[in-house]
Amino acid sequence: MISSFSFKKHFTPLIKNAIPKSICQHRLSNSDCLLLTFDDGPHTEHTPKVLDLLDEHSAKALFFIASERIKDSQDLLKDIVDRGHSLQNHSANHLPCSELSFAQIKQEINNCHQRIFDLTGQKTKYFRPPFGIITPKTIIASKRANHDLLCWSFDTGEYNHFKDASADVIASNLVEKVKPSEIVLSHDDSAKMPEILAHALPLLTEKRFNLKDGINEFL
Ligand SMILES: [Zn+2]
Repeated sequence: MISSFSFKKHFTPLIKNAIPKSICQHRLSNSDCLLLTFDDGPHTEHTPKVLDLLDEHSAKALFFIASERIKDSQDLLKDIVDRGHSLQNHSANHLPCSELSFAQIKQEINNCHQRIFDLTGQKTKYFRPPFGIITPKTIIASKRANHDLLCWSFDTGEYNHFKDASADVIASNLVEKVKPSEIVLSHDDSAKMPEILAHALPLLTEKRFNLKDGINEFL
């Protein structure tokens, strides 16, 4: 069986480039904005710090939740919503879609949606497949589960190409390279994330990126 890692590395970029925006969005329509998105939380220690930093800089973000990770962080989930951010769907068990059947992918999306709705009253509308793995089954299953696919155009890289880099290096790279209308992938369960944001958010604000309104396309 092909591993999720090799599938992601070698195959997904090919599919990703061939997928039109109407099927999976990677960028914002509004070119003045920059949208921050956070996967794999909530984390009891790091997510509250991330939320404080976002507040400090009037930034609004999408949080892609894998529902099995909520566990005893239910209050944190409500806190994310109360602070004006949006919860979105990152599946129930964070499994690579390449190893699931059509029915399983649909179930993963529906279970995550139900759990978030039961806890917060918020309905998820966008599905980000774990590891960013998009297969033809993923595209059809998410439609059937009434979710659009939403990925990213810029990866801050703390779990990827910058996994051994310091928070400062990751933040500087973001500030230097990111462009308006990009959707940024980050992870709020990363211990480096508060430091990355503390470094990057003031500089992004100084560069006059609109960090607040990108979320409106997805509400
Ligand atoms: Zn993830």
